[in-house]
Formats: sequence, structure tokens, C-alpha cells
Amino acid sequence: MPEILEIEYYRQLAEGALGREIKSVEVDRYAGKSLTPGIRPNDVLPGLSFTAARRKGKLLLLETEGPVFGMRFGMTGGLLLDGLAGIDRLEYGPGTYETKWIRASVHFVDGGALLLHDPRRLGRVLIDPDEDRLGPDAFALSLNELRGALEARSDGPALKARLLDQAKIAGIGNLLADEMLWRAGISPLRPCNKLQPDELKRLHRVIRSVLTQLFKRGGSHTGDLMSERHPGGACPKDGHALHRATVGGRTTWWCPKHQK
Ligand SMILES: [Zn+2]
Repeated sequence: MPEILEIEYYRQLAEGALGREIKSVEVDRYAGKSLTPGIRPNDVLPGLSFTAARRKGKLLLLETEGPVFGMRFGMTGGLLLDGLAGIDRLEYGPGTYETKWIRASVHFVDGGALLLHDPRRLGRVLIDPDEDRLGPDAFALSLNELRGALEARSDGPALKARLLDQAKIAGIGNLLADEMLWRAGISPLRPCNKLQPDELKRLHRVIRSVLTQLFKRGGSHTGDLMSERHPGGACPKDGHALHRATVGGRTTWWCPKHQK
């Protein structure tokens, strides 16, 4: 599943689409599901060109002289520009590209195209998406912002669930959350608002270092815990058998020995 790191690769790829006049936009009924009725990209984008490629969490934002064109990538969405893929292969992606999985296409006057490729059909294109529904971006998250994101009433939700809540912190997905909590030595089941000050600082440092390191390594699936996410998997730090549970609706692996 594309997480913040993959969307950042897509954003970099999309910079190659800047300054090129848009000729037409095609969107299928899946990718167009979240569009406001009556506002089709092909009605508002042709004749314009993209002027900036931004990202907030897992939302890619392509600015024009007019509306902002937004793209979400769901479980298996990939971005292609002029035939080049943003990343070779997503961990849960098909590993191949097929024309029938192209859900949206921005065609340029110069003959090239920016494509949303998505077998599972959960990716969406948007016009002027509401960025305020997203919390602060995980890449630039300050300690104060993390503290604010973990605030809750007396019985806060599980820490892992809160880290996945895009309205609180934008960009962290399932694999990154498990890797971060494992490195920080904090249980995913802890109430999110019950961290000690030193744990909060440690988690903040780890969020930054995991994003920086795994971005260089090649994506969300390159964490140290990744190879042990299976029945019988052992903690790479201490060899203890990993536990598995569903937390925040997602399969979660952690080490009961050193994650407290
Ligand atoms: Zn361990």
C-alpha cells in the first residue's frame, strides 16, 4: 500500500509534468467517485498546466493557474508519467502494469501523459480537495504537533490507531506505524494519551528517522521489522516471538518483550 514515502516518490515524478499544457483529462467511474457532481477535471483543466507538485500526507496536490488537481492512491495506486512508474512495485501492488488498470489520464499537448494506475480501484482524483481535513504532514511533524495529535479524553484510543488517523497526522500507514513503534519500544496498544515525556520525545525522533531512512532505502516496505511480519516471526532486536493483533483496523505486529 502506498504510504507517505511512496507518495513523495510520486510527487518527485510529477515534477516532470510541470509547465506542460493539458490537452484533456479522462477519469473512469471509480477514480471519479469523490468528485463534486458537475465539476469534471476535463471541464476545468484543459488549456492550463501544472505549476507545482505538492504533497500533504498521502494526498498528491498538483497546482495549476486555476484549480488544484488532487490524487489519492488507495491500496494499490501508482503514478506513471510518460511511461515511467513512480516506483517499480508496491508491496501489495500487482508487480505489473496493464492498460485496463489505468483509472485516470491527464494528456498533455506535447503527447505525454500522467496516469493513475490502480488495480484495486480505490484511488481517486479530486478538484480542489479539502486539505484541512488532514493533520500535519508526518515528514515535517514537530514535537508539539505530535503531542497535540496524541491528545485525547481520559480513555484515548490505541497509539497505533491514532498514528494511522490521517486527520491527526497525515501520511503514516500500517507498515510505517509498526516499524516506528517497534524502534521506539512502545506497545501499539498503549492509550495514545498516556505516553511519558521521554517516550513522546523518543517516538518523535523515531518518526523522523524512519521516514528519512526508509525513503533512502526505497519505501515503506524496507523497515527492519518487515521480514518478520509473519506467523513465527521473531523480534530482530531480542529474538522474542512477535505478537499479532488487529489494531486500528489493520494487522499489527509487535514485540511484547521490549515494546512496553
Ligand atoms: Zn523485541
